[in-house]
Amino acid sequence: MRAEARIDLNAVTKNIEHLKAINGVELLAVVKADAYGHGLVRTAQAALKGGATWLGVALLEEALALRDAGVSAPILAWLVQPGSDFEKAVEKDIDLAVSSIAALNEISALKKKARIHIEVDTGMGRGGFLEEWDQLLSADFSQVEVVGVFSHFARADEPGEQQNLTQLENFKRAVAELAAVGVNPPIKHLSNSAATIKDAASAFNMVRTGIAIYGLSPDFKTLGDSKSLGLKPAMQLRAALYLVKVVPAGSPIGYGASAVTKADTKLGVVAMGYADGIPRIAAGAGVFVGGKRAPIIGRVSMDQFVVDLGPDSKAKSGDWVVVFGDGGHGEYTADDWGSASQSICYEITTRIGPRVPRIYEPHVY
Ligand SMILES: *Cc1c(COP(=O)(O)O)cnc(C)c1O
Repeated sequence: MRAEARIDLNAVTKNIEHLKAINGVELLAVVKADAYGHGLVRTAQAALKGGATWLGVALLEEALALRDAGVSAPILAWLVQPGSDFEKAVEKDIDLAVSSIAALNEISALKKKARIHIEVDTGMGRGGFLEEWDQLLSADFSQVEVVGVFSHFARADEPGEQQNLTQLENFKRAVAELAAVGVNPPIKHLSNSAATIKDAASAFNMVRTGIAIYGLSPDFKTLGDSKSLGLKPAMQLRAALYLVKVVPAGSPIGYGASAVTKADTKLGVVAMGYADGIPRIAAGAGVFVGGKRAPIIGRVSMDQFVVDLGPDSKAKSGDWVVVFGDGGHGEYTADDWGSASQSICYEITTRIGPRVPRIYEPHVY
C-alpha cells in the first residue's frame, strides 16, 4: 500500500458529544459525499454512537446504502428531484425533503404515506420553496406526513452578518405561515455547523451538522481553527515516499519545469497525486516527515508529487509521510491544503479519491 486515510472514529464520536452540548437539541449528522470522504457507514455509526439521532444525506443512493448496511436511525435525503424512486425511499423509511409542488404531487401519489420535510428558500437561492410558496400553503397534505420544515444558511460562517438574521426571520415567518394553514411539523431545522457553533438562536429543535463532526472548522479565518473550537480532526492522510534522491542546484522539477531547485537538496517523491485528490494547483502545502515540514516543489502529477526534503533530511525511499493531520505535531492540516489550493477543507477531504483506502485506526506520527 502507498497511501491511506486514517480515520479516528473516536474523534467523530467526541466531536458530536461536544457539538450536541452547545445547544442541547437533536443533532442530525450530515454524512453526504461518503461522510465528507471519511467513509459513509462507519462514520455514520460513530456519529450515532456520539449521540446524533438523525443522519442527513444529499442523495437517495446514499440513504439506501445506509439502510443496506443495517442503519436504522432516521435518515433525511434532501437532493431528490421529481422522477426519483420515491417508492423505494418510502419502503426503506427514508425521509424526503420537498422543494417543489411537482415533487410533493409525486410523493403524495405513493401508496405508503411518505415522511417529508418542507424545504424553504430563506435566502440561499438553492433548494427550497420560493415562488411556489403560496401554492404550497394551499396544497393538500393529507397524503403525506409532514415531519419537518427546514432551510439552509448561506453565510453562517460570518457571524454578525445581516443576511443570517434575515434568513432566520424568513424561516420563522415560513413556520408561522404553515402553522396558520394547520401544518405544524414537529422538527424545525436551520443550522449547519457554523450556526451550530455560533448561533444558538437558530438551533430550534435540531441542528444539521456536517464539517464540524469531522473535527474541521467551517471557516478557520472567521470562526477559529479546529483546536480553538474544541474539535479534533478525524482524518489523517499519509503516503509513502516512493523515492528519495539528491539533486543539484538548478534542477527543473516536474511538468512544465515550474520549479527549479535553488540549492543542492534532497527530493522526496510522494506516491499520491491529483487522481487521489491532491489539488494540482496546491502551492505552499507539503508533507511532514522526520519532525519537520517539507514543501511541495513543482507541479502535482496524477499519481505523485515532489517535496523538497532539504539537504540534511534523513528520510529514505519507502518512508511514510503525513500529508495532513490535526496539526498538533507541526504537520499541515486540511485547512492548510485548502488555503494552498484556493479552496476550503471541505473540498480537500471530500475529494480524497477511491484509490485511497480508509482505515479506521488511530493516527500515527
Ligand atoms: C451540507 C449541508 C449541511 C452541512 O453543512 P456543514 O457546513 O458541513 O455543517 C447542512 N444542511 C444542508 C442542506 C447541506 O447541504
